[in-house]
Amino acid sequence: MSTPPARASAELAVPSRDEREDWTARADCRFVEPSVFFGPDDEPRGARLRRERTAKQICHTCPVRIPCRAYALDSRQRYGVWGGTTEAERRARHPALPAGVPPEPR
Ligand code: SF4
Repeated sequence: MSTPPARASAELAVPSRDEREDWTARADCRFVEPSVFFGPDDEPRGARLRRERTAKQICHTCPVRIPCRAYALDSRQRYGVWGGTTEAERRARHPALPAGVPPEPR
């Protein structure tokens, strides 16, 4: 079995504050309306699925998708699409995600 490339382990590392500030400056979503990534509490299921699909399409080609996802998982972001993951997908990985924490501004 071969050793994984160095890049793979670097992608899994949780970014430092400086790295986080760096990657947010290159985020594809910085010019997109935040409502694409964050829906209202009473959003109907069909609308949520369409909105999340649109957000995930933006994330799919975003150059900072990996550190964004790592940040969302590490900081237990409760709301929104981050790094191509939905709230439900992150909750499945971290069932103890706290409820009622407001979304952080991007
Ligand atoms: S991966 Fe998605 S949510 Fe994260 S910075 Fe890129 S576009 Fe924004």
